[in-house]
Amino acid sequence: MLVGKGYDDVTLIEASAELGGSCRTQWYGNHPYTVGPRHFLTRREDVWNFLNSSCPMHRYDAGHEFLTYVERDSAFYHFPIHRDEVAEMPDSSQILEELRTVPGPEGAANLEEYWLFSVGQTLYDKFVNGYSKKMWGIDSNVELTDFGFTPKGVALKSGSKAAWDDAISGFPLAPNGYDDYFSLATKDVKVLLNTLITDFDITNYRVKVDNEWHQYDLIINTISPEVLLKNAYGPLRWMGRDFLKIVLPVEKVFPDDVYFLYYANTEPFTRIVEYKKFYRYKSPHTLIGIEVPSFNNKLYPFPCKKDQAIHRQYIEALPSNVHSIGRNGSYRYLDVGLIIEQCLDLFKNL
Ligand SMILES: Cc1cc2nc3c(=O)[nH]c(=O)nc-3n(C[C@H](O)[C@H](O)[C@H](O)COP(=O)(O)OP(=O)(O)OC[C@H]3O[C@@H](n4cnc5c(N)ncnc54)[C@H](O)[C@@H]3O)c2cc1C
Repeated sequence: MLVGKGYDDVTLIEASAELGGSCRTQWYGNHPYTVGPRHFLTRREDVWNFLNSSCPMHRYDAGHEFLTYVERDSAFYHFPIHRDEVAEMPDSSQILEELRTVPGPEGAANLEEYWLFSVGQTLYDKFVNGYSKKMWGIDSNVELTDFGFTPKGVALKSGSKAAWDDAISGFPLAPNGYDDYFSLATKDVKVLLNTLITDFDITNYRVKVDNEWHQYDLIINTISPEVLLKNAYGPLRWMGRDFLKIVLPVEKVFPDDVYFLYYANTEPFTRIVEYKKFYRYKSPHTLIGIEVPSFNNKLYPFPCKKDQAIHRQYIEALPSNVHSIGRNGSYRYLDVGLIIEQCLDLFKNL
């Protein structure tokens, strides 16, 4: 796309041996998986068409459900929390009373208030309180002051039990997921793999590789801008993940329409996925991925207005031809669909 915009000498610098970052398909015991995106989601038809035209996808909008395990009820419930399932909960009368008296989320100042004001204490404790503290490594959800993304658009759902029935969701048809797209998207570009940028002189549009400075007219950055500006405005908080992989001697373990299992209790992990559901991989065995929150990597920007204000300082300090995009570059909890959206919008304005 950059080449089409008149930038005919484009270099992509990538530290690892392969393109694709978290979207790259990895293999374990002959099973495909990714550390990042499982489902592709978008509310924009043009974004879906853009990806689908170069990376053919299958869609599964309708049967696309998430379950949360609530240990105190010994039950799995849909997430977002579903109104019909409240009636089946052992403490439904207490919950219904709380739902009758909640003020509504307007005026909530943090994630805890958002949920308490939306669904009351009991549902908050079952689904969100422990989960969110575990997810972000914090003692109180009051710390989370940017919470618009959290409830997947809705705190208590009615109607279909699909998690995202207002979005298109899907996954690449190819057995290696998004990988072929990375080669296609970079066919007119000089790709430097195994190439770590070790220093930045961003005001002069320079980056250092192998002890040599390289200067560019335009820089598109996908790593955290505090690295680019050498922590000039202080650190940003991040959360990471350790990933555990287990092959099981059965063909499948998840119910048919379920794509994610969330765990909202004292177990150390937050989520389990069964990768073959996305890849439609055929095997008499199945690969399960378990996500354990950790501080070992930077995968989730901390949803707090204080950190976002620091991030804004970094962005404002970047010269006009440096664009910082992607989940880390924007310091926003973006999925692949939103990142493609961001790229399409950026290229329109270049
Ligand atoms: C657990 C988890 C689950 C997710 N699930 C989904 C999902 O279901 N659906 C979805 O759409 N999205 C999902 N995502 C989000 C998705 O993975 C990210 O949005 C996406 O990978 C971000 O792409 P990116 O290009 O911005 O960054 P990345 O994929 O992180 O790529 C950044 C690249 O920069 C390279 N790099 C870093 N530093 C340097 C350096 N100094 N020099 C050179 N290269 C460098 C890295 O090697 C990497 O390849 C998930 C993320 C996580 C963590």
